[in-house]
Amino acid sequence: LLDASGQPGVTIFEEITALANQHEAINLGQGFPDTEGPAEIRQIAVDAILSGANQYAPGSGILQLRQAISEHQNRFYSLDIDPETEVVVSTGATEAIAAALLAFLEPGDEVVTFEPYYDSYAAMIGLANAQHKVVQLKAPAFEPSIEELRQAVTDKTRVILINNPHNPTGTVFSTQVLNEVIALAHRHDCIIVADEVYEHLTFGTKHVPIASLPGGFERTITISSAGKSFSFTGWKVGWATGPKNLITAVRTVKQFLTYSSGPAFQPAVAKALDLPVAFFEGFASELADGAQILADGLENAGIPVIRPKGTYFLVADINSFRHSDAIEVARKMPASVGVAAIPLSVFVHPENVSSYQGLLRFAFCKKPEVLSAAVGKLQLLP
Ligand code: PMP
Ligand code: GLN
Repeated sequence: LLDASGQPGVTIFEEITALANQHEAINLGQGFPDTEGPAEIRQIAVDAILSGANQYAPGSGILQLRQAISEHQNRFYSLDIDPETEVVVSTGATEAIAAALLAFLEPGDEVVTFEPYYDSYAAMIGLANAQHKVVQLKAPAFEPSIEELRQAVTDKTRVILINNPHNPTGTVFSTQVLNEVIALAHRHDCIIVADEVYEHLTFGTKHVPIASLPGGFERTITISSAGKSFSFTGWKVGWATGPKNLITAVRTVKQFLTYSSGPAFQPAVAKALDLPVAFFEGFASELADGAQILADGLENAGIPVIRPKGTYFLVADINSFRHSDAIEVARKMPASVGVAAIPLSVFVHPENVSSYQGLLRFAFCKKPEVLSAAVGKLQLLP
C-alpha cells in the first residue's frame, strides 16, 4: 500500500481525479458516469431516509434487496439463489472482494488473476499475505492464453479471481476461457471469485456469469454492484452470491469490516434490479455509443484504440508517439491536453510494466457532448 518512495500511497484514481479538478480537465480517468441514475430510484432512497431507514440494516442486507438480487439472477441468468443463505449485501463490490479474499486466503496461498488487474485485488491479496500470480492479457487482443492459464493455476492456488467484463481492457471472456477456469478450479480444488460488476455493460455480446456454466456455481462467489448497472457509484451498494458455505464465510468476514451497509439505499437498489430489460439494454446502448465517439475520435487523431466489448473503458495505444512513460503522460495530460486518463501500467506487477507501457485507459461513461469535447482536445495528444 506504499508508493514507490515508501510513502502511504493514494490510488491512481484519487491522484488523477485531483489533477483533473485542479486543471479543470475533462476527467476520463476515474470510472464514474456524469449522468444520474433513474430519478424514481433516487426518490425511493430519499423517501426511505425520511421514513426512518437510518439505523443499522441487517448484516446480510435487507430481505427485500436479497430477494431482488435473487430474482435478478433468475430473470437474467436462470440461476436459483436462496435469498436467505446465498446472498450477502456489501458496501460496494470492493467490500465483497475484500471479504471473499480475507475469508479464504491463508498466508502463502496463491491467487491467480489476469493482468492488468483492478487495483484493489493486489492490495487485498497483499493484506492477506498471499501471493499474487498473473496471466497476462496482451495488447491488442487482450485475450488470455489457455496454456498460460493452465500453467499459472497449481495446487498452491487457493483462489482464481476473474473480472468479467474486464476493467481496464474492455474484454469479455469467451465461454472457452470461463470453462477452463472452472475445470482448473475443480482440478486444483480452488475457489473462483468472479467480479462481474460490469455484467450489464456489454456491447453486442451477452454476459455469461461463470456461475451459470456447468460446475461453476458450486465453487464461485459472484460479486456485483449497483454502482455500475444503475450509475450510482457513490452509493456503494454491492453484493455477493454463491453457495451457502461460501457466502457464510464472506458474511462472517464482512460483519467485522463494516457490519452492515446503508439501509436507505437498499430498497432503492431492490427496485432498480427489477427495472424492465429495456432499461438495461438502453444504458448499454448509450455506453456503446459513447465508446464509439471516443474510439473514432482517437483513431481520427492517429491514436490506435482497442475497441471494448464491455465496461466503461477503452485502451488507447500511444506507443508510436510517446516521449516518456505513459504514467508521466497521464500526469501531464490534464494540464497539457485538458483530458485525464489512467495509465495501464498501474494495474500490473512492477516487473511487467514494460509490456503495458504505452497504453492509456479512457472512460467513456460520459455524455456524448463531453466525449466530443474530449476528442477535440485529444488531437493535441500526438
Ligand atoms: N471491481 C471492478 C472491476 C471495478 O472496476 C470497480 C470499480 N468500479 C469495483 C470492483 C468496485 O466497485 P464498487 O464501487 O461497487 O465498490
Ligand atoms: N472502478 C473505478 C475505476 O476503475 C474507480 C473506483 C475507485 O476510484 N476506486 O475507474
